[in-house]
Amino acid sequence: MTTRLSGDPADQRRCHAILLTGHTDLAANESFEWMTIKGDTTVRRAWRDLDEFLEKVDQAILEGCNVYIGLGVRRCPNGGVVGRCGCKHAFDREHVSRVMAAAADLDVKPPPKGFPSKAMAYDAVKTARRSPSFIVDSGGGLQVYWAFEEPLADLARFTNIQRGIAKFFGSDPIIDPSRVLRLAGTVNHKDGKPRPTKILKVVVE
Ligand SMILES: [Zn+2]
Repeated sequence: MTTRLSGDPADQRRCHAILLTGHTDLAANESFEWMTIKGDTTVRRAWRDLDEFLEKVDQAILEGCNVYIGLGVRRCPNGGVVGRCGCKHAFDREHVSRVMAAAADLDVKPPPKGFPSKAMAYDAVKTARRSPSFIVDSGGGLQVYWAFEEPLADLARFTNIQRGIAKFFGSDPIIDPSRVLRLAGTVNHKDGKPRPTKILKVVVE
């Protein structure tokens, strides 16, 4: 079944966040992650409440930031609250407890580095053995997500899955469980030409 989505960017942001995180029950010490980049400034933050997250993302968009969402569930290995735990690298891979989805980052750029067009990237997605859960047009290509039924705690297995996906598509591997991907319904400011991002398709099997 394929579901049509509203083109409203605020709906897109909410939908992307729910598609990625909605199947994940957080433990008391876990959180989700988002990240903003503007110029040389990168900010990573943890969140637990969807509405609060969307409000803060609205602010970041007004400030002209690129906005990303994490694939991993965050948890401080030292028992702190991620982002305020005082660890030197509070958003490194040691601060990932589980991963919510496998993903592919299909860039449009001259082969062999990427796909010649989004249409050709999309054609490649259709040949994948498993239908993706949803696909995001990131402005510079396609991001494809396969949500795990239960978030995956075996991070080595995640990396293996990701290597297989990258090999299949000939794309850059996303092997780091602390990886973030661009949030749908935000603006891609890369290379100085603002491009909208949106969810292309949601597939419910
Ligand atoms: Zn920590």
